[in-house]
Amino acid sequence: MIDTTSNKRNSGNVILIGMMGAGKTTVGKLLAKQLGKTFIDSDEEIQRRTGVTIPHIFDVEGEAGFRQRESAVLQDLMQRHDVVLATGGGAVLSPQNREVLKQGGVIVYLKSNVHDLWQRTRHDHNRPLLQTADPRAKLQELYEQRDPLYTEIADVVMHTGKQSVHVLLLRLQQRLEALRNPNIGALESMQTLTVGLAERSYPIHIGCGLLDRPELLLQHLPRKRTVIVSNTTVAPLYLERLSNMLNLHGIHVQSIILPDGEQYKNSDSLNAIYDALLKSRSERNTPLIALGGGVIGDMTGFAAATYLRGVPFIQIPTTLLAQVDSSVGGKTGINHPLGKNMIGAFYQPLVVLADTLTLNTLPDKELRAGLAEVIKYGLIRDLPFLEWLEDNIEKLLARDTAALQYAIACSCQNKAEVVGVDERESGERALLNLGHTFGHAIENGMGYGIWLHGEAVAAGTIMAVDLSQRLGWLSAQEVARVRTLFERAGLPVVAPKLGAEKYLQLMGLDKKVAEGKIRFVLLQSLGHAVMTGDVSQALLEQTLEACSA
Ligand code: NAD
Ligand code: MG
Repeated sequence: MIDTTSNKRNSGNVILIGMMGAGKTTVGKLLAKQLGKTFIDSDEEIQRRTGVTIPHIFDVEGEAGFRQRESAVLQDLMQRHDVVLATGGGAVLSPQNREVLKQGGVIVYLKSNVHDLWQRTRHDHNRPLLQTADPRAKLQELYEQRDPLYTEIADVVMHTGKQSVHVLLLRLQQRLEALRNPNIGALESMQTLTVGLAERSYPIHIGCGLLDRPELLLQHLPRKRTVIVSNTTVAPLYLERLSNMLNLHGIHVQSIILPDGEQYKNSDSLNAIYDALLKSRSERNTPLIALGGGVIGDMTGFAAATYLRGVPFIQIPTTLLAQVDSSVGGKTGINHPLGKNMIGAFYQPLVVLADTLTLNTLPDKELRAGLAEVIKYGLIRDLPFLEWLEDNIEKLLARDTAALQYAIACSCQNKAEVVGVDERESGERALLNLGHTFGHAIENGMGYGIWLHGEAVAAGTIMAVDLSQRLGWLSAQEVARVRTLFERAGLPVVAPKLGAEKYLQLMGLDKKVAEGKIRFVLLQSLGHAVMTGDVSQALLEQTLEACSA
């Protein structure tokens, strides 16, 4: 008897099944590239072998003739190894094909709803089965017939939804990894994302135990020297480990330890970095490594951007907030007595290492504050991620490594996509500020340091969501859903009572003010944020009143 399970795994083949328009070809190509496998589209293979198009085969031989050719091609292809195969939508109709596929590799069903499929196929005239009077009804009929067959043979079902193909790919790779080796500890798995900024593109590595993986850093340290900037809290925890590892590989390490706290994110600390670099005659090609939270990351990045007009920069973020937010996107800087983050530069690192192990020493309060930004990504642009968070928030609070890695990867992917299209915040990047207009008012009104940034963002997001409901964009149930998630994350959902007038005055100082009008990031629906300046004072005051106590 053939051992189906081991055979399908050992072949190294991944087979994508699903309806026409589900994205099998797009996903398949990218997946093959990432896994180093060969991509084959069975429809293209049939056309290649017959030398004519599929509509032509349908014309001449009918659907039955096409299916015969399809079976032969599938049989053939499944003899091969390390192939990512995108099958035709009807490949699963014959029991024989289903058996061939089941034994040929791991089967992934890309599942979409009929509405999305229709949107994606309606203008495509190369789909012979849809050349009917009512193609949408036909699609519905095909779906009802095929969905149970796809489900029957699938090892993995991936809902495609509205998420970007990169996020989908990330999820798919995790599912495949888990399938391949159910006992694999998070320890061995690492994910790498790319922030796509042309020649300044760089990788973000996310995983458990990355501080013990010298190869991730060594390629960026050709001159065998580096300077690590950290603070008095993080240095005792991780600096020795990191420098010892680098020393072992012949790297000379200089360290600069700054006092800990947002109040030290200023020109004095910046000067302390310059002083140390100048005293040690640090050169233009010596990279600066930031080891710490967002404060250290922002300051070190700005020092790297400006010392000798720019030296290489590496980020090792050690707070959840820094791993999901401040280390991605290249904003660096310091505070000025007259305003937070007012002096700075856009400066991208060479590489980011987010080691989930470092989060084990992070105080609970800081972990929760980081979760506020994580939830934000779900709310503004990734509904499936929001749903995942609703299912997994307790795991994150318990610091489950695999869950943390997943949440960090999805967050970074979302931020990277936004930054990739709008590095300098002229448009979409501003959507990352959901809850921040209100949040900054809370932080500022209470006096910086009383509320953590993430806490203020949580309460501020509830205000933004409330306002979205008042505009008729969200239902009461959706608002309650958001509030519940923040509550479960241990974050505040009620803002302090500063009074509407004070809030308005504080928000007037907000940097998103355009032509005297306050612009808000609000939710048109869950998973979809928009920027609007069209909010009446009356509604705004109602929100400020209703959401503070
Ligand atoms: P933080 O850097 O002050 O870190 C929070 C606290 O945790 C500090 O006391 C720190 O020493 C400590 N800590 C850090 N790592 C630790 C660990 N592994 N174990 C134990 N303790 C640890 O604050 P943050 O929340 O990481 O970052 C906030 C800063 O980031 C703000 O200055 C904000 O302006 C900035 N920020 C920048 C961006 C950006 O795009 N550049 C985005 C968001 C926030
Ligand atoms: Mg923020």
